Amino acid sequence: TNISRPWGACPAGWRSRSSNPAPEVSSDQAVGMVSFPPLQTYSEEESMMREAVKKCAQERIAPFVSKMDENSAMDEEVIKTLFEQGLMGIEIDPEYNGTGSTFFSSILVIEELAKVDASVAVLCDIQNTLINTLFTKLGTTAQKEQYLSRLSTDMVGSFCLSEAESGSDAFSLKTRADKHKDYYIINGSKMWISNAEHAGVFLVMANVDPSSGYKGITCFIVDRDTEGLEICKKENKLGLRASSTCPLNLDNVKVPEKNILGQIGQGYKYAIEMLNEGRIGIAAQMIGLAQGCFDHTIPYTKQRVQFGQRIFDFQGMQHQIAHVASQIEAGRLLTYNAARLKEAGRPFIKEACMAKYFTAEVATLTTSKCIEWMGGVGFTKDYPIEKYYRDCKIGTIYEGTTNVQLSTIAKFIDKEYDH
Ligand SMILES: Cc1cc2nc3c(=O)[nH]c(=O)nc-3n(C[C@H](O)[C@H](O)[C@H](O)COP(=O)(O)OP(=O)(O)OC[C@H]3O[C@@H](n4cnc5c(N)ncnc54)[C@H](O)[C@@H]3O)c2cc1C
Repeated sequence: TNISRPWGACPAGWRSRSSNPAPEVSSDQAVGMVSFPPLQTYSEEESMMREAVKKCAQERIAPFVSKMDENSAMDEEVIKTLFEQGLMGIEIDPEYNGTGSTFFSSILVIEELAKVDASVAVLCDIQNTLINTLFTKLGTTAQKEQYLSRLSTDMVGSFCLSEAESGSDAFSLKTRADKHKDYYIINGSKMWISNAEHAGVFLVMANVDPSSGYKGITCFIVDRDTEGLEICKKENKLGLRASSTCPLNLDNVKVPEKNILGQIGQGYKYAIEMLNEGRIGIAAQMIGLAQGCFDHTIPYTKQRVQFGQRIFDFQGMQHQIAHVASQIEAGRLLTYNAARLKEAGRPFIKEACMAKYFTAEVATLTTSKCIEWMGGVGFTKDYPIEKYYRDCKIGTIYEGTTNVQLSTIAKFIDKEYDH
């Protein structure tokens, strides 16, 4: 049969970039005319990347996970592995040493990494879905030449929006950038900056004209070694411990005008757009985490014997296990659908919010249930389950809290029911 892949209509077959979106296929057209592959259909390249990352995560990342969590530090070897495997520049053009693959591949990679370690997954996620995309979409030729090759091969980037007093209300940020001749002076501070410990470049949102409110927010490229940029002591966190989360101080940081990424005053728009897409990455992280935890737990329930039978064989256990497996499957489908919609150039924001909100719930349920199914040993550090339980909590907080996702979903529903 002739399978039509709505996301694969461009010449390269499996590639669909937003600049070359697949044609829209209405549900009317679909009836009786086109057969659609299931959502969990992967291109050859996607399957290959998924398998390769799975193997790499098992062999080259898993051995570090427990120590990194305990020490609250990402091992340099792990970062090197991500770069070597082309996982830090998944969508970057090979012209800039990138892998030249798709957004969907990034989603699969994040999911696979999160099965093994959510901290490694978020390192890869932020680099690919936020930093690289911002440089690719907005960078001048000079900026792309300077940064994209490094981001593909050896430079971590951090996304700096949040501040102590502006979290969900991100665009009330206080960091300001004052213009002098052909440069800006940035003053302020940022909070919660992921991967800051290892980052070589920081994309800093600062306001060039606070009197215009959020319309003054501008995105600046700030190199790590810039005078006045201080990366402060990392947070001591419940979970995601191997991922550094640091406050930044910006004290008279001088950046040339040419370090503005995109247009002056458009930073808020870029941040919204990136986070809309980025949420699908967080959903992939949550679903990978939930699956990884489930995969560690089920074999135990099939070995552990109580009352003369495997605990898996109790119907009370089976119903819970089947329920959780169904939730994971639903979360994965929401995530993949949002990613495919984005790749096809179709509206995806509501679906991305749903995926992020739902998968964070699923990860919370799964990890909690897995501890219960393992009994006492699930509560110890002899098994990785308690780490998954701690790591999942971040899914309800960053890149928009659960309430923020729900508010956005409700806004869409409100509009849809306008007459
Ligand atoms: C580990 C970690 C990594 C992070 N990484 C980054 C990063 O790399 N870059 C970056 O810029 N930021 C990062 N953040 C910041 C993160 O995005 C914020 O923590 C998040 O946006 C929430 O902001 P807040 O912590 O100030 O909480 P608040 O906004 O104060 O929210 C507190 C509570 O109030 C609720 N609330 C707030 N407003 C509303 C509303 N209008 N309606 C209903 N409920 C509401 C929230 O849902 C939440 O439950 C990170 C945070 C953490 C913890």
